[in-house]
Amino acid sequence: MSELKDLFQSADWKTEKHVPVIDAPDTVKKGELIRIVATVGKEIPHPNKTEHHISWVEIYFQPQGEKFPYQIGRIEFSAHGASANGVDTSTVYTHPEAAVSFKTDKPGVIFACSYCNIHGLWQGSRALKVE
Ligand code: FE
Repeated sequence: MSELKDLFQSADWKTEKHVPVIDAPDTVKKGELIRIVATVGKEIPHPNKTEHHISWVEIYFQPQGEKFPYQIGRIEFSAHGASANGVDTSTVYTHPEAAVSFKTDKPGVIFACSYCNIHGLWQGSRALKVE
């Protein structure tokens, strides 16, 4: 039987438009506010239409040596062009970019996952050093 973890796809974000790109500092000081922006389609734009769009992004931090990750935030992208007149008629489209901030005393790995309404779950990660 397949498990949910097996459904997460990954690839090089430079060649695969679904992978969330994590912009974050490589190194921070203990307790310093860390600003992260996770974007889908940074290098290769992802479609943003009623019938095909990114629905949400979640960001997690896994401190080095700990068993469980911590969810930093979940951002829903809610406007995809639909209006009372039908699909792709509103001219309003949420751009799939998620900005969050957090602080930590430990180094670890930042994970981002995204959900495309027709291409499923995608993940990206980035190491964070703390000095
Ligand atoms: Fe897609």
